Amino acid sequence: MPETDVKKHEPSPDFVKHAHVDAAKYEEMYKASIEDPDGFWGEHGKRIDWIKPYTKVKNTDFTYGQVDIKWFEDGTLNVAANCIDRHLKDRGDQTAIIWVPDEDDGSDQHISYNQLSSHVNKFANVLKGMGVGRGDRVVIYLPMIPQAAYAMLACARIGAIHSVVFAGFSPDALASRVNGSEAKVVITADGGPRGGKVTSLKDNADKAFEKIEHDAKLLVVKRAGNDISWTDGRDHWLHELEDGVSDDCPPEEMGAEDPLFILYTSGSTGQPKGVVHTQGGYLVYTSMTHEYTFDYHDGDVYWCTADVGWVTGHSYIVYGPLANGATTVMFEGVPTYPDAGRFWKICQDHKVAQFYTAPTAIRALMGKGNGPVEKYDLSSLKVLGTVGEPINPEAWNWYDQVVGKGRCPIVDTWWQTETGGHMLTPLPGATATKPGSATQPFFGVQPVVLDAESGSVLEGPGVEGVLAIADSWPSQMRTVYGDHERFMNTYFQQYKGYYFTEDGCMRDEDGYYWITGRVDDVLNVSGHRMGTAEIESALVSHPAVNEAAVVGVPHEVKGQAIYCYVSLMDGHEPSEELKKELQTHVRTEIGPIAKPDFIQWAPGLPKTRSGKIMRRILRKVAANEHEQLGDTSTLAEPEVVDDLIANRLNK
Ligand code: ATP
Ligand code: MG
Repeated sequence: MPETDVKKHEPSPDFVKHAHVDAAKYEEMYKASIEDPDGFWGEHGKRIDWIKPYTKVKNTDFTYGQVDIKWFEDGTLNVAANCIDRHLKDRGDQTAIIWVPDEDDGSDQHISYNQLSSHVNKFANVLKGMGVGRGDRVVIYLPMIPQAAYAMLACARIGAIHSVVFAGFSPDALASRVNGSEAKVVITADGGPRGGKVTSLKDNADKAFEKIEHDAKLLVVKRAGNDISWTDGRDHWLHELEDGVSDDCPPEEMGAEDPLFILYTSGSTGQPKGVVHTQGGYLVYTSMTHEYTFDYHDGDVYWCTADVGWVTGHSYIVYGPLANGATTVMFEGVPTYPDAGRFWKICQDHKVAQFYTAPTAIRALMGKGNGPVEKYDLSSLKVLGTVGEPINPEAWNWYDQVVGKGRCPIVDTWWQTETGGHMLTPLPGATATKPGSATQPFFGVQPVVLDAESGSVLEGPGVEGVLAIADSWPSQMRTVYGDHERFMNTYFQQYKGYYFTEDGCMRDEDGYYWITGRVDDVLNVSGHRMGTAEIESALVSHPAVNEAAVVGVPHEVKGQAIYCYVSLMDGHEPSEELKKELQTHVRTEIGPIAKPDFIQWAPGLPKTRSGKIMRRILRKVAANEHEQLGDTSTLAEPEVVDDLIANRLNK
């Protein structure tokens, strides 16, 4: 088990004074949300505007074979009107989106709510003109440009279902998602600049169209000005179709349970799943978590560095913040371009108050030392967030001390594409944090720790098992697109009556939750179960180590042996001596049982495009089964795998 008896970081009295929620209020609201979900959500559902108010709140069933999830089912609304129209009266001139392009050339744009309205209405009319209507699917394959947000909101406005495909994906991945949803329109750009290099998205889309089996149109946003080829009749420039189009498109009245979007999971554990989210519950929950988790106040500039191709971008760049009338930053580039100070420069330039990123980015920047952070004035920062993977205490402490100067609460948010919004997270004015723990459930969330084998509920503190959720919350996924059976089999079959998260977890003596990694990743060494996260954290706590990934390999005596892939910090070289030192280090940190059997130096680790380490691939490499790597379509840099195979130990 990770060391849980560590010093807690209490929110400062000054922070608590201005926070939406303090510790007592959290207790009170949490209790109310569990004892009376209908009353609690009936009240908080009103935070968004309904065309026809709901009379029913929760109607959900987790019974395997008949899983059915409905929230606010008889209410009607329009999500885009909630994110735009209702703000125009009071904050039409306020900035909705600050767009920061890849090049650091001062051409950042401030898009006001009035301008957002005009862009989205026009975009919506263009889509209508292309024959897109209620319930039709639209695939969005765009770089991080404002048009990505316009496109999503335009779909929401006319009741079309969007499916955003990350712009780093291949033509094949794009084609399979277009085919899978029979999308009428695909939206792309000529090219997308990232880190100073332009990817021709239009070329990728052209290649994808060779494999698209139905009649679809391609709408192209002009971004990079690169040369592209053109198919008359099929391809259309957005700016041409927008010319002369009205900027008034009445919002469709949508049922709360009509689908809003389809989005695929990251593919860390296997085949990505096409997650379906609906309108009402999703917007209520994402806007509420955005406000409470980040302690967002009117006037704050909020920045989530995710890509809109991931759920984090959907819920916490676009829908949650805009429903709250916030100012949200959208960044086109990468953390290390033109140099490793880029994030911090943007924070300084735009006086960012809430900053939300992933452990992978924090570790990468930590590897570059403190210099690039210290160059900038980060006094505007109030809250720091993280999402995507367990964060090692080492990286947490660096984030806290070097970025936050010890004065910004850190919210480690555990959630999934499937959950739509934050599930376990500190609230910055309410929760004393412990580095590496996602702490406590958000309102309405009932986590349970189950024994992995028997499925029985483990009560009390100091227990470890698999994480499941006992009852529904408003932004829960409703189904796998076109495959309700798969939905039930994946999440409700193994542990009857619960939503199974596929993550391992422990609950400590304070009732705090610690995600120990994916269930598939749990090691069993001589009968001892260990989470990969724990051994990785021990490795990363050594000053020479930047990043580590741990997997089990079959072992005749122990059942499994511990195989570690280690990337070093800038300025450190691999050596046999260092290997021994790391073995001793893990032994001292955790115990003799956790001593690594193999340590392979890894210049890079295989990651999903959303930055998660793909341990399933590392397991195959370590076990010499690299002929069967499985689905690698969501891998960011396939080349790193070749290096790992070539240098495999345990031959
Ligand atoms: P797939 O389901 O296709 O294998 P994925 O699980 O990586 O892909 P996502 O929905 O993007 O797809 O990621 C959710 C997962 O990310 C969680 O189940 C958990 O394993 C991990 N995760 C997210 N946030 C945290 C966090 N704060 N702490 C620990 N783990 C996290
Ligand atoms: Mg998953």
